[in-house]
Amino acid sequence: MSRDIIRHAPIVKGVPHLLHGGDYNPDQWIRSKDTTWKEDMRLARLAGINTLSVGIFAWAALEPEEGRYEFGWLDEIMDLMHENGITAVLATPSGARPGWMSQRYPEVLRVNGDRSKNLHGGRHNHCLTSPVYREKTLAINTALAERYGEHPALGVWHISNEYGGECHCDLCQERFRAYLQDKYGSLDELNEAWWSAFWAKTYTDWSHIVSPGSHWRGEQDIHGLRLDWMRFTTEQFVDFYLHEAAPLKAITPDIPCTTNLMGTYPGIDYYRLAQVLDVVSWDSYPQWSNTDRDVRTGVESSFNHDLTRSLKGKPFMLMESSPSATNWRPVAKLHRPGVHLLQSMQAVAHGADTVQYFQFRKGRGGSEKFHGAVVDHEGTERTRVFRDVAEVGERLAGLDAVVGTTTPADVAVVYDWSNRWALDDMKGMLQDKTGYQGTVLDHYQAFWEQGVPVDVIDGSLIAAPGELDQYRVLVAPMLYMLRPGVAEAVNAFVERGGTFVATYASGYVDENDRTFLGGFPGPLRDTLGVWAEEIDALYEDDRNAIVWNGKEYEAFELCELIHAEGAEVLGAYGTDFYAGRPALTVNHRGEGKAYFIAARTGADFLDDFYRKVVADTGVERALDADLPAGVTAQVRSDGDTDHVFVLNCNPTEARVDLGDGETLELAPHGNVVLQRPRPNSEA
Ligand SMILES: [Zn+2]
Repeated sequence: MSRDIIRHAPIVKGVPHLLHGGDYNPDQWIRSKDTTWKEDMRLARLAGINTLSVGIFAWAALEPEEGRYEFGWLDEIMDLMHENGITAVLATPSGARPGWMSQRYPEVLRVNGDRSKNLHGGRHNHCLTSPVYREKTLAINTALAERYGEHPALGVWHISNEYGGECHCDLCQERFRAYLQDKYGSLDELNEAWWSAFWAKTYTDWSHIVSPGSHWRGEQDIHGLRLDWMRFTTEQFVDFYLHEAAPLKAITPDIPCTTNLMGTYPGIDYYRLAQVLDVVSWDSYPQWSNTDRDVRTGVESSFNHDLTRSLKGKPFMLMESSPSATNWRPVAKLHRPGVHLLQSMQAVAHGADTVQYFQFRKGRGGSEKFHGAVVDHEGTERTRVFRDVAEVGERLAGLDAVVGTTTPADVAVVYDWSNRWALDDMKGMLQDKTGYQGTVLDHYQAFWEQGVPVDVIDGSLIAAPGELDQYRVLVAPMLYMLRPGVAEAVNAFVERGGTFVATYASGYVDENDRTFLGGFPGPLRDTLGVWAEEIDALYEDDRNAIVWNGKEYEAFELCELIHAEGAEVLGAYGTDFYAGRPALTVNHRGEGKAYFIAARTGADFLDDFYRKVVADTGVERALDADLPAGVTAQVRSDGDTDHVFVLNCNPTEARVDLGDGETLELAPHGNVVLQRPRPNSEA
């Protein structure tokens, strides 16, 4: 098991620096452009900004009447950016459309799950099937590529903005049926896959199939249909992205394209969407509170960065973040000193080659007029936030050596959209609180606390040949759905020496959300050497315990009643009618081990358990030191030099003992980057 630690090319050809900048809406300031735009360039340079994203939501300014383009203002701003050494991330404007289009072609407007049709306005309010919307986006994207394809400022194409939502119009219903016909071939196959004999849902004509509504659960009770609707919606975005990108790729094949994602946004399987992106980008808005909760906030940000990087296994763009308050949060708390720098360095630590904001200059109206910005309504560099941003600019300018470097992760944690959709629909166990997201994060946190780099991978990727070769440890919390090939790949991983960790609620359903027959965890039963006969859901105040290594750990919410079938029993339940039955097992198989944790536990158990796993497997830690609580270390490397980022997510000071009498002092929310030659890898 080994991996190549390499240095990727910079995202923008010829720009070997970390990019620093953000969304910029010069079209909102056209009336004062002679003063405002020039001042913006001065302020951008002063803040160490070398990139700005323009054209997002600018359709009304670019095409005020159907077919009449106004590119003059964009010509001017692109030239200004180039003169000031600023790389343009140029957007296609499809995130929102001009009024003439909605009025003349109502089919472009979206129909909601309750079948109500939206009025004009807002963003993300368009049908992805609509031939008119496709024709209009193709026309304007082509015009943009033709006009700016050779412009020296152009660095990256930013396609649309935060794709999301669903459309349930008649056009989309027809397209959904075509998708299903293509997938299943016959209604017989579809009925079997969806187990639709349940509640008389058997489909006898394709036209009977409708998308799951939001006002009536009728169709939602067919879980296979819900899953396919979510997969179809994902394919709609993939297809629409490819449609938008086609003229850009044809005219500017060397300019990378992206669309900005949103972490674990539930509506699109990002593993699928990322396959068609050249570079992955995402928008990160952590909710720092200046309390103990900041540790979990830090864990969650780290997880999202790792997930985003893992989508393509190479550096990504932090397309948006707030330099201060996030206006749409219920509490728009200001960033405390150090927080802005911390969250920016944290992104870089996990593989971001850019730190970008929403937004460069605060607008005067609209719902985001109080969102944090580099330049406030006051308008000058004399603000605390501006100085915070300039400090980030200064730090990033000193980190050219980090550009393109890789994250060497020996550990993979599985996060899986299909699995999440199935668990969200599931009626049983703790139906309102399956806790999938939180559970994945709990397991991830145990590695974060030890400064162990982690990739976050998809359940279906496990089955792809060679995908697991680079890892020594594979953790799949609550992998309720096992898609074809996954169990076989996990088994092969264990046999050749890998360590696999599974939990309760694993291996219950197949890719269509039909339960496995013949005992859970389904096709993983042999690999894990356990049979899960029943699962107990506990009320909020109920507690059981796992007794392991002479210590008793709380177990709560979900306790699975398992039989060891070849697995060695390491820990047992402490109470209730299943006291003494196995709660933690390990199956020795081939050269490897497969652990099974039968109940939900707290951080104390996961900490002790994963410290043992890390020690036993010798996986790489970013820093050979015991980190204090709330401090993590992450590493990026080019194979010769490691850049070790030490991040303190606590609102209090922290000290790391580096050994040999050396210590590292970290301010509240402080960070340090260390360089060292890469230790020889034993692989
Ligand atoms: Zn539609």
